[in-house]
Amino acid sequence: MTTQKMTTRTDAVVLRGENLTRTYGSGATATHALRGVTVDVHAGELIVLRGPSGSGKTTLLNILGGLDVPTSGTVRLDDREITGASESELVELRRHELGFVFQGFALLPVLSALENVELPMRIAGVAAPERLARTTELLAAVGLADHAAQRPDELSGGQQQRLGIARALANEPKLLIADEPTGQLDSTNAETMMALIAALVHDRGVAAIVSTHDPRMAAYADRTVEIRDGLLTD
Ligand code: ADP
Ligand code: MG
Repeated sequence: MTTQKMTTRTDAVVLRGENLTRTYGSGATATHALRGVTVDVHAGELIVLRGPSGSGKTTLLNILGGLDVPTSGTVRLDDREITGASESELVELRRHELGFVFQGFALLPVLSALENVELPMRIAGVAAPERLARTTELLAAVGLADHAAQRPDELSGGQQQRLGIARALANEPKLLIADEPTGQLDSTNAETMMALIAALVHDRGVAAIVSTHDPRMAAYADRTVEIRDGLLTD
């Protein structure tokens, strides 16, 4: 992939997490999943968040994306603080500004590939001709143009993950958050997937933060961030 080194990174900060902590439970059995994490995501950059299992990657991504609330610290998207935003504000934000790719794909099994990508646009009220144009373009971009009518269970694991990425990009988010998108793929598919994410991010000028426990994925990043036991290490 030649696009991988053509970074679209700018100095503008799209997302900033500051002094984030997250403690699950309390007292003697408390787990300190995040212990004071500060991270900036710049417009157009691809960050790879690396760390072993249990280091806090999912916790951090969920908090950055407004799916979970930190025990302390703040998250800002552009100039808005999303920690403390109301649930309806968060719904709008997730609908229009953020795209999520989940570990288990989270596709709707009764919908076709095309309908899965189209769904977030329907919810956002995008008109039908525009929906069809965007869906067609996205399915082609992830190599699924010939699979539009198939349901998720009729696709391979790699194809399902590519569909998840197309769906995450449906509403043209500023920031793509992907939690171990290569975790359930074999190593060849994992490399292909990471190259695809890098190409999509750089072609569209989207910022992305992608977690992995696979050290080889760092090759595709504009920047790598390491997490250990709830703390970033440099
Ligand atoms: P990673 O994604 O890097 O594997 P996680 O963010 O899932 O790490 O987990 C970080 C730590 O927090 C781990 O010790 C995990 O067991 C703990 N943890 C995660 N989610 C919960 C939860 N809902 N309740 C209690 N502990 C949790
Ligand atoms: Mg995880």
